[in-house]
Amino acid sequence: MFAEEGNGLVKIEIGERRLSLNMDSDMVYYSLSDRTYRRTRMNDIIELRYIGGRRSARLLEEEEKAGIASAFYRDVEATSMQYPSLKRYVKDYSFLETRGKMLREIYGGKIPIVPPDRYFSLYIKISEGCPWNKCSFCNLYKDRKYMPLKIEKIKEEVDALKSFFRNSMPAMNGIFLGDANAVSMNFSELDEVLLYLGKEFRMPFYAFSDAFTTPLKNTDFERLHKLGMKRIYIGIESGNPDILRMLNKKMELDIAREFIEKIKEAGINVGLIVMSGFGEEHVESTVDFLGSMEYSKGDMVYISPVKEYGNFHEVLLANGIKDNREIAVKEYENIRNSLRSRLKIPVVVYSLDEAMY
Ligand code: SF4
Repeated sequence: MFAEEGNGLVKIEIGERRLSLNMDSDMVYYSLSDRTYRRTRMNDIIELRYIGGRRSARLLEEEEKAGIASAFYRDVEATSMQYPSLKRYVKDYSFLETRGKMLREIYGGKIPIVPPDRYFSLYIKISEGCPWNKCSFCNLYKDRKYMPLKIEKIKEEVDALKSFFRNSMPAMNGIFLGDANAVSMNFSELDEVLLYLGKEFRMPFYAFSDAFTTPLKNTDFERLHKLGMKRIYIGIESGNPDILRMLNKKMELDIAREFIEKIKEAGINVGLIVMSGFGEEHVESTVDFLGSMEYSKGDMVYISPVKEYGNFHEVLLANGIKDNREIAVKEYENIRNSLRSRLKIPVVVYSLDEAMY
């Protein structure tokens, strides 16, 4: 048995079992011999396993979550016999439920998605929803209207988050600026918000952006870099204009390319997100598009196997595309293998089953 606490995190090892919780007592990871449970901050629990060499993620049902959380805190309690300072972290499932509910209240709802490397960043909502909100495959923000938040509202959110993560803030690996396109808000307001957040936290910033509404705005990326922007995640989806039309993504690939270059010239890294599951032409043109750009350390490529939402199923059928998870996963592997041999940056999966905050 082994335990250590520091920098906002507690880590425990009991034989093959590995536990990780933050210093506000929130369960984070619970690894057993053949599976790992990750608890999101909104209190979903995802079971991760490798089946036939492939990673699989399953969202636990409500009734399963309490059992996992109880086993987790029983292990924390058992460890506290040898490490008495850990006693204060022993909680139960109702504690986690309350924490999830409190966080949803701070944000005014659930955070639908974050990039896979941002689970442990502090999400700060500086704008609500997506200014476009019309892509045929996406229903992440359909329930809300796009709206940049006023600085007073952001300050209230920051105060609430500081008190919520009172003991675990040192474990945060940056600030993710929500929601779908924080960098497209009025630039002087964005400047003011980032100056304020920079003084409050001293952590790098990350954000999503699209490559079709934002390039038309007067966004000063050099200034953003100076203010602490580290990486911008851009949904490219496909290198094929026909597929982009099907996805109702009003993006011109040439403009997207210029946009990416402009961000990189300013010293900001990019995280480019493409999808898989749309057929051979899509694979070829997407690999060509991504393979035709220069990257640097800190850039990333993410591949997201297509997942259906609402009437996207009909959109796929109307375009003669089979809706099949196996095909999407195979295509993901094809794109990944082609790019890994060409690009010198990480090319990884972006699974919508896992990318929850
Ligand atoms: S731009 Fe992004 S967030 Fe907005 S609708 Fe399209 S995929 Fe969804």
